[in-house]
Amino acid sequence: MNNCIFCKIVNHEIPATVVYEDEDVLVFMDIGPIIKGHALVVPKDHFDSVLETPENVLAKLHRAAKRIAVAQMNGLGADGVNIVQNNGKAAGQEVPHMHVHVIPRFEGDGHHWNWNAKKYVDSNEMIGLAEKMRNNL
Ligand code: AMP
Ligand code: ZN
Repeated sequence: MNNCIFCKIVNHEIPATVVYEDEDVLVFMDIGPIIKGHALVVPKDHFDSVLETPENVLAKLHRAAKRIAVAQMNGLGADGVNIVQNNGKAAGQEVPHMHVHVIPRFEGDGHHWNWNAKKYVDSNEMIGLAEKMRNNL
């Protein structure tokens, strides 16, 4: 894809600090880490988001993400790992080339997700939304 920053990294047109590479997947350090050690797992082929990414590619990305998570635990001494993936502007996706964030977490690292649990008006509201999703699987 023209002008895609992650395609440029894959094609060595702009630099990145690579952690892992194989035929289909590249893993490099995020330049704006949520926590130091934050890495990005990307497919070498361009797909905008998870919605366009074939299932076999998703499997390869998540296999690599797990290996990176293990490496953060064993190599960086992380106490936990967040695996996060944003799709679409509304979901906070800034770079429209599919990527999986792998973020090492340390006890007392001070990071807090803004995880504000809401309530449904009643159980019918929740059941109705589940039905709409079920009808579109
Ligand atoms: P998202 O908001 O899910 O699209 O995440 C995009 C991520 O890409 C952010 O965490 C950025 O810090 C990261 N990023 C943007 N440009 C670069 C780059 N040139 N090298 C490494 N990471 C980058
Ligand atoms: Zn791209």
